[in-house]
Amino acid sequence: MIIAIDGPSASGKSTTAKGVAEKLGITHVDTGAMYRAVTLGLKLSEISPDDEAGVCQYLSEIELYFDANNKIRLNGIDVSHEIRSGDISSRVSAVSAIPEVREKMVIIQRRIAGEQNCVLEGRDIGTVVFPNAEFKFFLIADIDVRAKRRLIELEKMGETKSISELIEDIRRRDQLDSSRDHSPLIQADDAIPIDTSQLTINEQIKKIINHINHNK
Ligand code: C5P
Repeated sequence: MIIAIDGPSASGKSTTAKGVAEKLGITHVDTGAMYRAVTLGLKLSEISPDDEAGVCQYLSEIELYFDANNKIRLNGIDVSHEIRSGDISSRVSAVSAIPEVREKMVIIQRRIAGEQNCVLEGRDIGTVVFPNAEFKFFLIADIDVRAKRRLIELEKMGETKSISELIEDIRRRDQLDSSRDHSPLIQADDAIPIDTSQLTINEQIKKIINHINHNK
């Protein structure tokens, strides 16, 4: 079984996908973490996203996987904390727009989900990666709610930004993710939209689980 949960940043995908996977006892795949890890790796290797040959060479050399604790590992190192920084968030859309990066990530995602039941969250899961997924959801939320969520996440990293800066960052990332040529952020025709602005995490999870239980 494949459950696709797509939506823009800070729409509640990660916590919801994690909770749904836990309730169903299946694997949670955070595909955004994969794009973030590649972004971190390119930055540390001082390879510009514009350097196509450099990016391709880099991609051919890396090992990217989720470990037994579902932490993302880049060349064996757990990078799950670093990839959440404001700096990586501001760089990731340029990297995720590179077709070769997407190609490699999609191969890994299909391999993981080919071996087990999964909840995959991202931008293009229901449209491109698994267009035949059994269940598809598209999460949205008001921009100010999303900015507040992002602020809490950043504060956990010891970083801070004003709400207006965060709204600006989110708008910019939405714009880049929705307008790219390859696998843009878009709701699949058959995805169920869920507005999480006024919902608690438990309510979000429940909505999805109820839908799945009623339509199995
Ligand atoms: O979900 P998250 O905000 O962590 O995703 C980070 C970035 O990774 C997104 O802004 C987007 O550019 C990219 N992404 C993507 N396709 C996915 C998941 C994430 O392009 N399936």
